[in-house]
Amino acid sequence: MIDYLLEVNHLKTYFYGSEKQEIPAVDDVSFQVKQGETLCIVGESGCGKSVTTLSVMKLVQTPPGRYVSGEILFEGRNLLEMNQKEMRNLRCKEISMIFQEPMTALNPVHKIGAQIAEALIINEEIDKKAAHQRAVELLRMVGVPDPVRCADSYPHQLSGGMRQRAMIAMAFSCNPNLLLADEPTTALDVTVQAQILDLIQTLKEQRGMTVVFVTHDLGIVAEIADRVIVMYAGRVVEEAACEQLFASPLHPYTRGLLRCIPRIDDTREILETIEGQVPTPADFPRGCRFHPRCPKAMEICKSVMPEPVDMGNHLVSCHLYPGCGDAAGNSREV
Ligand code: SF4
Repeated sequence: MIDYLLEVNHLKTYFYGSEKQEIPAVDDVSFQVKQGETLCIVGESGCGKSVTTLSVMKLVQTPPGRYVSGEILFEGRNLLEMNQKEMRNLRCKEISMIFQEPMTALNPVHKIGAQIAEALIINEEIDKKAAHQRAVELLRMVGVPDPVRCADSYPHQLSGGMRQRAMIAMAFSCNPNLLLADEPTTALDVTVQAQILDLIQTLKEQRGMTVVFVTHDLGIVAEIADRVIVMYAGRVVEEAACEQLFASPLHPYTRGLLRCIPRIDDTREILETIEGQVPTPADFPRGCRFHPRCPKAMEICKSVMPEPVDMGNHLVSCHLYPGCGDAAGNSREV
């Protein structure tokens, strides 16, 4: 039996609107992550990727959010059963997160050095002077050219790349075992993006850390992932090892995402797109949630939600494959 560092089992994180409207942002999501592995979660905006990682940190605001059911096992402990004090002890020391937009994640009225030092004072129980010194060392470690000046700066005085490095320094400050990175390079230009990805990879390898990386960029996935889960409309539609997913994607949504990427040997004059948009969680269609956009949609897709089926260490939820909920159990032309 494999011991997973993180196991998310049938997680449902819903939000409730003013008229008790139920919004299933994360709906029956399951995945596992092994120690030292990099798992990428991909999908378009609004597919539930960020709410999934925020749920692991237990940072979903409740209300309006609610963990309706499921479990999140970290080293065998169910985080959903922990109280706020227990979670505070766990965050940063054992699980840390890099947020998408450092300008909103960092506190604008405190200097960078003080913000990194705060986590160290709370979690490592060191005094203020030693914590500030460590903060400067961490900024140097993440490649900030003048760490002393950076520590003495407010977030608005730094460039986007430097702010993201400061966020990474903070996330790594207490040497966590699990790092959650929610689109940490989205707001950056491509050269800084490459530097930040390199930095995360290097630190991960040096420390044997486990990473869950959220992105909509399949180029990043190909570069860093060991395993990939593809999310659509709050559900996992496909999961496989990275190479397997790129070599033989099974789900029409994954295939559509891959067709949207320009290739170096491309002969197409116009890039393909996936027609339509991700439905809002308050308005998910019946059956397969991808059916209004799917070129392979069949009658059954409009009424029966496909369940995940294992196609040889490759999970897919689609009626094109036998066992996904088709009462006849027949495979179809794929
Ligand atoms: Fe397309 Fe049907 Fe598969 Fe959904 S279940 S992805 S609609 S073929």
